[in-house]
Amino acid sequence: MTNPYSLSFVVPCYNEVDNIRLFKRRAFECFDAEGISLEIVFVNDGSQDGTFELLREVVGETDPSHPMQAVQFSRNFGKEAALYAGMEAARGECICLIDADLQQTPEDALRMYKLLMDKPEYDIVAACQVERKESVVLKLFKHSFYKTFNGICTDIEIPANVSDFRVFRRTVADALLSLPEGQRFSKGLFAWVGFKTLEVPYEPDARANGESKWSVKSLFHYAANGILGFTTWPLKVAVWIGLVASLGGFVYLLWIIFEYALRGTDVPGFPTLACLILLFGGLQLTVLGVIGEYLSRSYIEGKHRPLYIAKEHLTNEGRGENEK
Ligand code: UDP
Ligand code: MG
Repeated sequence: MTNPYSLSFVVPCYNEVDNIRLFKRRAFECFDAEGISLEIVFVNDGSQDGTFELLREVVGETDPSHPMQAVQFSRNFGKEAALYAGMEAARGECICLIDADLQQTPEDALRMYKLLMDKPEYDIVAACQVERKESVVLKLFKHSFYKTFNGICTDIEIPANVSDFRVFRRTVADALLSLPEGQRFSKGLFAWVGFKTLEVPYEPDARANGESKWSVKSLFHYAANGILGFTTWPLKVAVWIGLVASLGGFVYLLWIIFEYALRGTDVPGFPTLACLILLFGGLQLTVLGVIGEYLSRSYIEGKHRPLYIAKEHLTNEGRGENEK
């Protein structure tokens, strides 16, 4: 397949009605000025605020010289699924993953694209946040996540502060699309597929409109998904705990024999027993829980469900006609 455009923006949108027009205008303005052909692929991830109705309007009124696509999901499948769908639809030689809220600016994307063109030895240009305008608690959480992830996942390393905001070549997109897992964690997948990556610093702007979709719960879920998706090590922890516990039990037995048989001391049993039962009961349940987490992931993967269901796919090639 030939790629008719130089770059495709893949833009996941969840309740971004106030940002779409602004994003489209800024993106085409800065790429037109450089004479670089840009395509925008909006993926509406089941928004409830009229984002898709607006996208239909925008696609319909945009001249085909400014190629646009809009994929409409049947419900909210999450940003990772939206990125996947966008990459599948994109027809550019290079692809840029960029948010709709203009925190990551089209001007920065243009700079990253030019950098990639100037440096053929690189396949990916990834934006690295220099300063995070976040609370101390959130910073601490993210810092500990990267430390834990890189500490226990020995196969790959994800650099701290690198965002999903990246420009990369078609080969990288094909590699990412070939990974079939349903529970996706982009940062890990990028590290896993490899390719030479150039990190460039960037400072995210404030959100143009609307609010962030992250909650404490979704952050925990995201972090756990990342760690579970790229490790099997926690599954083996039970073996080591078991071995250490058995050794401890054996040493304790020797000590009891020594106390009771040789020194004649009456060893008090009940408190020790109660503590040990609680300790090991708790440990066993924890380990079972960890096994359960992995099992549930492989159960979900085993169903081979598609990553998303698209109910509509619009493009302005035929001026907003419904393709599918
Ligand atoms: N997003 C999405 N599906 C979701 C949540 C978010 O497609 O379930 C999109 C959202 O519209 C935005 C991008 O992902 O374009 C980043 O989301 P957000 O701005 O909430 O994240 P933050 O910038 O706070 O990390
Ligand atoms: Mg944002």
